[in-house]
Amino acid sequence: MPILIISDIHANLAAFEAVLADAEGQWDTIWCLGDIIGYGPNPNECVDLLRQYDHISLSGNHDWAVLGKLDINSFNDEAQTAVRWTQSVLREDVRTYMETLPTTLLKEPFTLVHASPRQPVWEYILDAYTAAVNFSYFDTTYCLVGHTHVPGAFQQENNHILVHQPDYRQPRTLSETRCIINPGSVGQPRDSDPRAAYALLDPETLTWEYRRVDYPIVQTQEQMNKIGMPEKLITRLAHGW
Ligand code: ZN
Repeated sequence: MPILIISDIHANLAAFEAVLADAEGQWDTIWCLGDIIGYGPNPNECVDLLRQYDHISLSGNHDWAVLGKLDINSFNDEAQTAVRWTQSVLREDVRTYMETLPTTLLKEPFTLVHASPRQPVWEYILDAYTAAVNFSYFDTTYCLVGHTHVPGAFQQENNHILVHQPDYRQPRTLSETRCIINPGSVGQPRDSDPRAAYALLDPETLTWEYRRVDYPIVQTQEQMNKIGMPEKLITRLAHGW
């Protein structure tokens, strides 16, 4: 049975529920690449829902910020507001769980990090150059990353990097050469496609499938409005940036 690969839920329960409904019965465990919270209106609910399933999860930069493990002055104003609000509502048991999450996991032949193998919590792999440098920082054939909120893959082929755009609902066998692969973001996509992103991975056949699914964006936006989240964070969900 495949693994449900998710990242950057960012406390968007409606998006997370839509992903789970779309993939229902098609996986038996979850690999979550971090940033479960931050930005969205449902941090406790999203952690509770994730914990109902067999899963492993990493900690991301927003998770660290909420836990006080990094200086939130490195965040923009809107993100800082979201972090402070999240800190104010996070239940103690949820915080305790989040404190246990690692920044790197090894699941041969996959290395899992939130951001990049070189800087597991911080670095954005958005271009072939940054990807090329990062291939020296992990030993497995594949590395799964989130953080950019942009799905796609970088493949190391001889001396160059091939950049792959996602082709949705087309299961494909992973290349035999090394790859850094990003499933995209469940709760705050940034590739101009507002639908929730995720992937399915069959670890036996090494088959990877990118997916997108619609979710009730307005529902999340209304909740964010009610708690007084910055307008920019509310608007961006409808546009996928
Ligand atoms: Zn994120």
